[in-house]
Amino acid sequence: MAEKRDYYDVLGIKKGASESEIKKAYRQMAKKYHPDNNPDDKSAEEKMKEVNQAYEILSDSEKRSSYDQFGHAAFEQGGAGGGGYYGGGMDFDMGDIFNMFGFGGSGSTARRNGPQRGSDIGVTIQISFEEAIFGTTKEISINITDKCDTCNGTGAKTGTHAETCKRCNGTGQERVVQQSIFGAMTSVRTCSVCGGTGKIIKDPCPTCRGKGRVKKAKKFEVNIPKGIDHGQTIRLSGKGEAGINGGGYGDLMVTVYVQPDRYFVRKGMDIYCDVPITFVQATLGDEITIKTIDGEQKYTVKPGTQPETVATMRGVGVPNLRNNAQRGNQVVTFKVKIPTELTGRQKEILKEFYNPNVVENEKKGFWDKMKEKLED
Ligand SMILES: [Zn+2]
Ligand SMILES: [Zn+2]
Repeated sequence: MAEKRDYYDVLGIKKGASESEIKKAYRQMAKKYHPDNNPDDKSAEEKMKEVNQAYEILSDSEKRSSYDQFGHAAFEQGGAGGGGYYGGGMDFDMGDIFNMFGFGGSGSTARRNGPQRGSDIGVTIQISFEEAIFGTTKEISINITDKCDTCNGTGAKTGTHAETCKRCNGTGQERVVQQSIFGAMTSVRTCSVCGGTGKIIKDPCPTCRGKGRVKKAKKFEVNIPKGIDHGQTIRLSGKGEAGINGGGYGDLMVTVYVQPDRYFVRKGMDIYCDVPITFVQATLGDEITIKTIDGEQKYTVKPGTQPETVATMRGVGVPNLRNNAQRGNQVVTFKVKIPTELTGRQKEILKEFYNPNVVENEKKGFWDKMKEKLED
Protein backbone atom coordinates (compact mmCIF):
# COMPACT_ATOMS: atom_id res chain seq x y z
CA MET A 1 0.00 0.00 0.00
CA ALA A 2 1.34 3.43 -0.93
CA GLU A 3 2.37 5.70 1.94
CA LYS A 4 -0.23 8.33 2.69
CA ARG A 5 1.10 11.81 2.06
CA ASP A 6 1.06 14.45 4.74
CA TYR A 7 -2.17 16.45 4.45
CA TYR A 8 -0.36 19.77 4.77
CA ASP A 9 1.95 18.77 1.92
CA VAL A 10 -1.03 17.70 -0.16
CA LEU A 11 -2.50 21.19 0.10
CA GLY A 12 0.94 22.82 -0.10
CA ILE A 13 0.60 24.71 3.17
CA LYS A 14 2.47 25.06 6.45
CA LYS A 15 1.47 23.24 9.63
CA GLY A 16 0.22 26.36 11.36
CA ALA A 17 -1.86 27.57 8.39
CA SER A 18 -4.99 29.56 9.21
CA GLU A 19 -8.48 28.44 8.26
CA SER A 20 -8.63 30.88 5.38
CA GLU A 21 -5.22 29.74 4.09
CA ILE A 22 -6.45 26.15 4.10
CA LYS A 23 -9.60 27.14 2.23
CA LYS A 24 -7.61 29.14 -0.30
CA ALA A 25 -5.12 26.31 -0.88
CA TYR A 26 -7.96 23.88 -1.28
CA ARG A 27 -9.70 26.02 -3.91
CA GLN A 28 -6.49 26.30 -5.90
CA MET A 29 -5.79 22.58 -5.75
CA ALA A 30 -9.38 21.66 -6.53
CA LYS A 31 -9.32 23.92 -9.63
CA LYS A 32 -6.03 22.42 -10.75
CA TYR A 33 -7.18 18.81 -10.48
CA HIS A 34 -10.82 19.33 -11.32
CA PRO A 35 -12.03 16.59 -13.67
CA ASP A 36 -13.31 19.17 -16.16
CA ASN A 37 -9.79 20.52 -16.57
CA ASN A 38 -8.26 17.05 -16.70
CA PRO A 39 -10.62 14.89 -18.74
CA ASP A 40 -9.83 11.18 -18.52
CA ASP A 41 -6.74 11.80 -16.42
CA LYS A 42 -6.59 9.09 -13.76
CA SER A 43 -3.74 10.68 -11.85
CA ALA A 44 -5.63 13.97 -11.57
CA GLU A 45 -8.61 12.04 -10.26
CA GLU A 46 -6.41 10.44 -7.60
CA LYS A 47 -4.89 13.82 -6.72
CA MET A 48 -8.36 15.30 -6.41
CA LYS A 49 -9.31 12.50 -4.04
CA GLU A 50 -6.22 13.14 -1.95
CA VAL A 51 -6.93 16.88 -1.87
CA ASN A 52 -10.51 16.22 -0.76
CA GLN A 53 -9.36 13.95 2.05
CA ALA A 54 -6.80 16.48 3.23
CA TYR A 55 -9.37 19.25 3.18
CA GLU A 56 -11.98 17.17 4.98
CA ILE A 57 -9.58 16.68 7.88
CA LEU A 58 -7.82 20.06 8.00
CA SER A 59 -11.00 22.13 7.64
CA ASP A 60 -12.50 20.51 10.72
CA SER A 61 -10.79 21.84 13.84
CA GLU A 62 -11.44 18.68 15.85
CA LYS A 63 -10.19 16.30 13.14
CA ARG A 64 -7.28 18.62 12.44
CA SER A 65 -6.08 18.58 16.03
CA SER A 66 -6.18 14.78 16.21
CA TYR A 67 -4.35 14.65 12.88
CA ASP A 68 -1.69 17.03 14.26
CA GLN A 69 -1.29 14.77 17.28
CA PHE A 70 -1.44 11.30 15.76
CA GLY A 71 -1.05 11.74 12.00
CA HIS A 72 -2.94 9.38 9.72
CA ALA A 73 -3.15 6.82 12.51
CA ALA A 74 -5.81 9.03 14.14
CA PHE A 75 -8.31 7.92 11.50
CA GLU A 76 -7.09 4.54 10.42
CA GLN A 77 -8.13 2.65 13.53
CA GLY A 78 -11.39 4.51 13.96
CA GLY A 79 -13.85 2.07 12.48
CA ALA A 80 -12.51 -1.18 13.92
CA GLY A 81 -15.10 -3.90 13.98
CA GLY A 82 -17.46 -2.24 11.57
CA GLY A 83 -17.54 -1.22 7.97
CA GLY A 84 -16.76 2.45 8.39
CA TYR A 85 -13.08 2.55 7.63
CA TYR A 86 -11.17 5.52 6.46
CA GLY A 87 -11.20 4.96 2.70
CA GLY A 88 -14.87 4.20 2.28
CA GLY A 89 -16.24 6.78 4.63
CA MET A 90 -14.17 9.59 3.21
CA ASP A 91 -15.18 9.39 -0.41
CA PHE A 92 -17.54 12.24 -0.43
CA ASP A 93 -19.39 13.63 -3.28
CA MET A 94 -17.63 15.91 -5.71
CA GLY A 95 -20.94 17.52 -6.59
CA ASP A 96 -21.38 18.77 -3.06
CA ILE A 97 -18.02 20.45 -2.90
CA PHE A 98 -18.16 22.19 -6.21
CA ASN A 99 -21.57 23.56 -5.54
CA MET A 100 -20.45 24.66 -2.12
CA PHE A 101 -17.75 26.83 -3.59
CA GLY A 102 -19.79 27.98 -6.51
CA PHE A 103 -17.51 27.04 -9.36
CA GLY A 104 -18.15 24.75 -12.21
CA GLY A 105 -21.50 26.43 -12.69
CA SER A 106 -22.91 24.23 -15.40
CA GLY A 107 -24.76 21.10 -14.43
CA SER A 108 -22.21 18.91 -16.16
CA THR A 109 -19.68 19.39 -13.38
CA ALA A 110 -21.90 17.97 -10.70
CA ARG A 111 -20.92 14.32 -10.72
CA ARG A 112 -23.29 12.69 -8.34
CA ASN A 113 -23.38 9.71 -10.61
CA GLY A 114 -19.60 9.39 -10.76
CA PRO A 115 -17.87 6.17 -9.79
CA GLN A 116 -18.03 5.46 -6.08
CA ARG A 117 -15.58 3.14 -4.42
CA GLY A 118 -17.13 0.26 -2.47
CA SER A 119 -17.05 0.29 1.32
CA ASP A 120 -14.31 -1.30 3.37
CA ILE A 121 -15.51 -4.30 5.32
CA GLY A 122 -14.22 -5.29 8.76
CA VAL A 123 -14.14 -8.90 9.94
CA THR A 124 -12.58 -10.67 12.93
CA ILE A 125 -10.83 -14.02 12.86
CA GLN A 126 -9.68 -16.17 15.74
CA ILE A 127 -6.26 -17.79 15.73
CA SER A 128 -4.32 -19.76 18.32
CA PHE A 129 -1.38 -18.47 20.34
CA GLU A 130 1.06 -20.56 18.23
CA GLU A 131 -0.49 -19.46 14.93
CA ALA A 132 0.11 -15.83 15.90
CA ILE A 133 3.76 -16.60 16.52
CA PHE A 134 4.52 -18.88 13.59
CA GLY A 135 2.05 -17.44 11.08
CA THR A 136 -0.63 -19.37 9.21
CA THR A 137 -3.13 -19.22 6.37
CA LYS A 138 -6.82 -19.00 7.15
CA GLU A 139 -9.84 -19.15 4.94
CA ILE A 140 -12.70 -16.82 5.72
CA SER A 141 -16.20 -16.91 4.30
CA ILE A 142 -18.27 -13.76 4.30
CA ASN A 143 -21.42 -12.43 2.73
CA ILE A 144 -20.39 -9.39 0.83
CA THR A 145 -21.87 -6.95 -1.67
CA ASP A 146 -20.32 -7.83 -5.02
CA LYS A 147 -20.84 -6.95 -8.66
CA CYS A 148 -23.87 -8.67 -10.21
CA ASP A 149 -22.60 -11.20 -12.75
CA THR A 150 -25.85 -11.36 -14.71
CA CYS A 151 -25.71 -7.70 -15.80
CA ASN A 152 -22.01 -7.15 -15.14
CA GLY A 153 -22.88 -4.39 -12.70
CA THR A 154 -24.93 -2.24 -15.08
CA GLY A 155 -28.26 -3.07 -13.44
CA ALA A 156 -29.91 -3.46 -16.87
CA LYS A 157 -31.45 -6.71 -18.13
CA THR A 158 -29.27 -8.67 -20.56
CA GLY A 159 -29.63 -7.24 -24.07
CA THR A 160 -30.82 -3.83 -22.82
CA HIS A 161 -28.94 -0.94 -21.33
CA ALA A 162 -29.50 1.92 -19.02
CA GLU A 163 -30.56 5.21 -20.63
CA THR A 164 -29.27 8.58 -19.62
CA CYS A 165 -31.81 10.36 -17.43
CA LYS A 166 -33.48 13.12 -19.45
CA ARG A 167 -34.34 15.26 -16.49
CA CYS A 168 -30.73 15.70 -15.32
CA ASN A 169 -28.87 14.78 -18.51
CA GLY A 170 -27.05 12.10 -16.59
CA THR A 171 -25.63 14.40 -13.96
CA GLY A 172 -27.81 13.03 -11.20
CA GLN A 173 -28.69 16.55 -10.09
CA GLU A 174 -31.31 19.08 -10.98
CA ARG A 175 -31.50 22.82 -10.45
CA VAL A 176 -34.56 24.16 -8.75
CA VAL A 177 -35.59 27.79 -8.73
CA GLN A 178 -37.42 28.85 -5.61
CA GLN A 179 -38.99 32.17 -4.77
CA SER A 180 -37.93 33.57 -1.44
CA ILE A 181 -38.02 36.94 0.26
CA PHE A 182 -34.60 37.62 -1.29
CA GLY A 183 -35.89 36.92 -4.76
CA ALA A 184 -35.44 33.88 -6.96
CA MET A 185 -32.93 31.40 -5.54
CA THR A 186 -31.43 28.58 -7.46
CA SER A 187 -30.49 25.48 -5.60
CA VAL A 188 -29.21 22.11 -6.68
CA ARG A 189 -30.69 18.87 -5.50
CA THR A 190 -30.56 15.18 -6.27
CA CYS A 191 -32.47 14.41 -9.45
CA SER A 192 -36.00 13.39 -8.54
CA VAL A 193 -36.37 11.16 -11.59
CA CYS A 194 -33.25 8.97 -11.39
CA GLY A 195 -32.49 9.39 -7.69
CA GLY A 196 -28.99 10.70 -8.44
CA THR A 197 -27.71 7.85 -10.56
CA GLY A 198 -28.04 9.78 -13.81
CA LYS A 199 -29.47 6.70 -15.46
CA ILE A 200 -32.87 5.22 -16.07
CA ILE A 201 -33.12 1.47 -16.23
CA LYS A 202 -36.29 0.48 -18.08
CA ASP A 203 -35.70 -3.26 -17.88
CA PRO A 204 -33.94 -3.96 -14.63
CA CYS A 205 -31.73 -7.03 -14.30
CA PRO A 206 -33.82 -9.69 -12.53
CA THR A 207 -30.88 -10.91 -10.46
CA CYS A 208 -29.99 -7.63 -8.77
CA ARG A 209 -33.27 -5.81 -9.43
CA GLY A 210 -31.40 -3.01 -11.18
CA LYS A 211 -28.93 -2.34 -8.39
CA GLY A 212 -25.92 -3.76 -10.23
CA ARG A 213 -24.72 -5.31 -6.99
CA VAL A 214 -25.76 -8.43 -5.09
CA LYS A 215 -24.87 -10.07 -1.79
CA LYS A 216 -22.61 -13.03 -2.38
CA ALA A 217 -20.97 -15.61 -0.18
CA LYS A 218 -17.27 -15.27 -0.85
CA LYS A 219 -14.20 -17.04 0.43
CA PHE A 220 -10.85 -15.42 0.95
CA GLU A 221 -7.51 -16.77 1.95
CA VAL A 222 -5.77 -14.67 4.56
CA ASN A 223 -2.05 -14.98 5.11
CA ILE A 224 -1.36 -14.35 8.77
CA PRO A 225 2.24 -13.16 9.12
CA LYS A 226 4.58 -14.45 11.84
CA GLY A 227 4.49 -12.33 14.97
CA ILE A 228 1.06 -10.76 14.53
CA ASP A 229 -0.49 -9.68 17.82
CA HIS A 230 -4.00 -9.65 19.24
CA GLY A 231 -6.05 -6.78 17.84
CA GLN A 232 -3.88 -6.13 14.78
CA THR A 233 -5.51 -5.73 11.39
CA ILE A 234 -4.54 -7.09 7.98
CA ARG A 235 -5.79 -5.14 4.97
CA LEU A 236 -6.76 -7.10 1.87
CA SER A 237 -6.84 -4.48 -0.85
CA GLY A 238 -9.77 -4.66 -3.23
CA LYS A 239 -11.52 -7.49 -1.35
CA GLY A 240 -14.22 -5.30 0.15
CA GLU A 241 -17.56 -4.23 -1.31
CA ALA A 242 -18.01 -3.63 -5.01
CA GLY A 243 -18.17 0.02 -6.04
CA ILE A 244 -21.08 1.86 -7.64
CA ASN A 245 -21.13 3.09 -11.24
CA GLY A 246 -17.85 1.45 -12.11
CA GLY A 247 -16.07 2.51 -8.91
CA GLY A 248 -13.38 0.22 -7.51
CA TYR A 249 -13.73 -2.34 -4.75
CA GLY A 250 -13.23 -1.39 -1.11
CA ASP A 251 -10.81 -3.24 1.16
CA LEU A 252 -11.31 -6.12 3.53
CA MET A 253 -9.92 -5.40 6.99
CA VAL A 254 -9.23 -8.58 8.93
CA THR A 255 -8.71 -8.05 12.66
CA VAL A 256 -6.98 -10.88 14.46
CA TYR A 257 -8.18 -12.25 17.77
CA VAL A 258 -5.49 -14.36 19.43
CA GLN A 259 -6.74 -17.01 21.87
CA PRO A 260 -4.90 -16.99 25.19
CA ASP A 261 -2.52 -19.87 25.96
CA ARG A 262 -2.67 -21.91 29.16
CA TYR A 263 1.04 -21.76 29.79
CA PHE A 264 2.43 -18.70 28.01
CA VAL A 265 1.47 -15.05 28.27
CA ARG A 266 2.62 -12.71 25.53
CA LYS A 267 3.61 -9.08 26.04
CA GLY A 268 4.80 -7.58 22.77
CA MET A 269 7.68 -9.72 21.53
CA ASP A 270 8.36 -11.36 24.91
CA ILE A 271 6.73 -14.48 26.29
CA TYR A 272 6.15 -14.91 30.03
CA CYS A 273 5.67 -18.14 31.95
CA ASP A 274 5.95 -19.58 35.45
CA VAL A 275 8.18 -22.61 36.07
CA PRO A 276 7.59 -24.64 39.26
CA ILE A 277 10.67 -26.06 41.02
CA THR A 278 10.94 -27.96 44.31
CA PHE A 279 12.49 -26.29 47.32
CA VAL A 280 15.29 -28.85 47.10
CA GLN A 281 16.03 -27.84 43.50
CA ALA A 282 15.93 -24.20 44.55
CA THR A 283 18.34 -24.87 47.40
CA LEU A 284 20.81 -27.25 45.77
CA GLY A 285 20.38 -26.24 42.11
CA ASP A 286 19.45 -28.65 39.29
CA GLU A 287 19.35 -29.27 35.55
CA ILE A 288 15.75 -28.92 34.40
CA THR A 289 13.88 -28.65 31.09
CA ILE A 290 11.73 -25.60 30.34
CA LYS A 291 8.99 -25.50 27.72
CA THR A 292 9.50 -22.82 25.06
CA ILE A 293 7.59 -22.20 21.82
CA ASP A 294 10.52 -23.90 20.04
CA GLY A 295 10.24 -27.02 22.22
CA GLU A 296 11.88 -28.00 25.49
CA GLN A 297 15.18 -26.44 26.44
CA LYS A 298 17.70 -27.38 29.15
CA TYR A 299 18.19 -24.89 31.94
CA THR A 300 20.50 -24.88 34.96
CA VAL A 301 18.82 -23.74 38.17
CA LYS A 302 21.50 -22.14 40.34
CA PRO A 303 21.93 -23.29 43.97
CA GLY A 304 20.21 -20.87 46.32
CA THR A 305 17.55 -19.73 43.81
CA GLN A 306 15.02 -17.62 45.69
CA PRO A 307 11.24 -17.86 45.14
CA GLU A 308 10.02 -15.53 42.32
CA THR A 309 13.49 -15.33 40.78
CA VAL A 310 13.15 -14.13 37.18
CA ALA A 311 15.36 -15.54 34.42
CA THR A 312 15.53 -14.46 30.78
CA MET A 313 15.96 -17.02 28.00
CA ARG A 314 17.17 -15.01 25.02
CA GLY A 315 15.89 -15.35 21.46
CA VAL A 316 13.03 -17.78 22.01
CA GLY A 317 10.28 -15.13 22.07
CA VAL A 318 7.98 -13.84 19.34
CA PRO A 319 9.47 -12.98 15.91
CA ASN A 320 9.35 -9.33 14.92
CA LEU A 321 6.43 -8.83 12.50
CA ARG A 322 8.63 -6.85 10.12
CA ASN A 323 11.89 -8.73 10.57
CA ASN A 324 11.33 -12.37 11.47
CA ALA A 325 15.04 -12.90 12.21
CA GLN A 326 14.63 -10.66 15.25
CA ARG A 327 13.00 -12.41 18.19
CA GLY A 328 11.96 -11.50 21.71
CA ASN A 329 12.84 -13.41 24.87
CA GLN A 330 11.16 -15.84 27.20
CA VAL A 331 10.89 -14.49 30.73
CA VAL A 332 10.64 -17.22 33.34
CA THR A 333 9.54 -16.81 36.96
CA PHE A 334 10.55 -19.68 39.26
CA LYS A 335 7.76 -20.75 41.59
CA VAL A 336 9.27 -22.64 44.52
CA LYS A 337 6.86 -25.37 45.66
CA ILE A 338 6.67 -26.18 49.35
CA PRO A 339 5.82 -29.87 49.95
CA THR A 340 2.56 -30.54 51.77
CA GLU A 341 2.93 -34.27 52.38
CA LEU A 342 6.08 -35.60 54.05
CA THR A 343 7.12 -39.02 55.36
CA GLY A 344 8.28 -39.41 58.95
CA ARG A 345 11.89 -39.71 57.78
CA GLN A 346 11.64 -36.53 55.68
CA LYS A 347 10.22 -34.66 58.65
CA GLU A 348 13.10 -35.90 60.85
CA ILE A 349 15.70 -34.74 58.35
CA LEU A 350 14.08 -31.32 58.07
CA LYS A 351 13.85 -30.96 61.84
CA GLU A 352 17.50 -31.89 62.09
CA PHE A 353 18.26 -29.28 59.42
CA TYR A 354 16.57 -26.62 61.55
CA ASN A 355 18.11 -27.76 64.90
CA PRO A 356 20.63 -25.02 65.79
CA ASN A 357 22.86 -27.49 67.72
CA VAL A 358 23.20 -29.83 64.79
CA VAL A 359 23.89 -26.91 62.48
CA GLU A 360 26.58 -25.58 64.83
CA ASN A 361 28.15 -29.01 65.09
CA GLU A 362 28.25 -29.38 61.26
CA LYS A 363 29.98 -26.07 60.92
CA LYS A 364 32.83 -27.07 63.23
CA GLY A 365 35.87 -28.46 61.51
CA PHE A 366 37.56 -31.83 62.11
CA TRP A 367 40.19 -30.45 64.53
CA ASP A 368 37.54 -28.63 66.57
CA LYS A 369 35.73 -31.91 67.00
CA MET A 370 38.99 -33.74 67.91
CA LYS A 371 39.76 -31.07 70.47
CA GLU A 372 36.32 -31.45 72.04
CA LYS A 373 36.88 -35.24 72.22
CA LEU A 374 40.29 -34.84 73.84
CA GLU A 375 38.95 -32.32 76.36
CA ASP A 376 36.25 -34.76 77.51
ZN1 LIG B 1 -27.75 -7.52 -12.25
ZN1 LIG C 1 -31.81 12.18 -13.36
